[in-house]
Amino acid sequence: MIMEFSDILYKPYFSKEDIIQLLNSDYEQRNLLYKYAAEIKEKYISKTTYFRGLIEYSNICSKDCLYCGIRKSNHNLERYNLSDDEIINAADFAMKNNYGSIVLQGGEIESKNQTERIYKLITKLMEISNNQIGITLSLGEQSFDTYKLWKDAGAKRYLLRIETTNQDLYKRIHPNNKKHDFERRVECLRDLKQIGYQVGTGVMVGLPFQTIDDIASDAMFMRDLDIDMCGMGPYIEHQDTPLYEYRNELLPRVERFNLTLKLIAIMRIMMKDINIAASTAMQAIDKFGREKAIKAGANIIMPNITPGKFRDHYKLYDNKPCTDEEAQDCLNCMEVRITIAGDQIGLNKQGDSIHFLNKEKIVK
Ligand code: SF4
Repeated sequence: MIMEFSDILYKPYFSKEDIIQLLNSDYEQRNLLYKYAAEIKEKYISKTTYFRGLIEYSNICSKDCLYCGIRKSNHNLERYNLSDDEIINAADFAMKNNYGSIVLQGGEIESKNQTERIYKLITKLMEISNNQIGITLSLGEQSFDTYKLWKDAGAKRYLLRIETTNQDLYKRIHPNNKKHDFERRVECLRDLKQIGYQVGTGVMVGLPFQTIDDIASDAMFMRDLDIDMCGMGPYIEHQDTPLYEYRNELLPRVERFNLTLKLIAIMRIMMKDINIAASTAMQAIDKFGREKAIKAGANIIMPNITPGKFRDHYKLYDNKPCTDEEAQDCLNCMEVRITIAGDQIGLNKQGDSIHFLNKEKIVK
């Protein structure tokens, strides 16, 4: 029996087949999908979008992911590493402008110096904000003890994207060695959960060799892992990466965008009260990409507060938007974007994942 689209949409639990059907929705159906996701968002977490001031503090990375513009082997860019003062100043801008939270993001480095530096930075940020700033880290794979140290210092959320859950595909978009191991990444996500972080992950949509079946499995992986936050973006090729070789085999960018939007809506319906980011990559394809993501269920936006002169050197993909702006420009632009999308801005609030808080209540 062929099910009507609306019979699938309003099911309490999606099977893999359901998710595939939703991902394959046509123009009319996908508008129903977005509308329902927006209703779920309003009901479970309210029509509020929270800011995370994004500090891309360094583009130095020890890894070589085949899709990434700042991979270790790319020598066509200038490497930078913000000083501690520059990081503190950026965080200070966030606090003065009533952002409840910041994200500290950088290339992946596992070393004693890095562990200590981040520990001291978190401690300092907690001190100067009177413990009022929410700190999210996005610093890749680290040991259990390092994650724990940073959590104890005051960081409360961690983003570690799985990128794809198809292990064969994972191997095709990463070098085949121990440093780029799928199992280790999953283990890190489990460690982060065990330590008590609000854990976020996410995937790229529209990778070469990726199928709709893969994307449906990604959605199920995130549900099974019971994540608290997610960030998904369309894959955008970078000319200085090995994966660029397959640029002619990709879906058109607009299709990658639409698939990502559908996945955002599906995740909102499946995991009603998690935080979902409207990623910058959405805007790289569609100038109203982030507004559309907010309308389809996203509730987090990450204005870039990295000093403008460094932004051009943190390009994970080509055509990254806003690299020529300063933090104040970003703030003005984001406020307008959120209002256009019909949401209010959660100023002075950390915007914790309600999903995480609800789980905590059950445990207590
Ligand atoms: S995706 Fe992350 S870990 Fe991989 S090369 Fe880029 S910054 Fe490094």
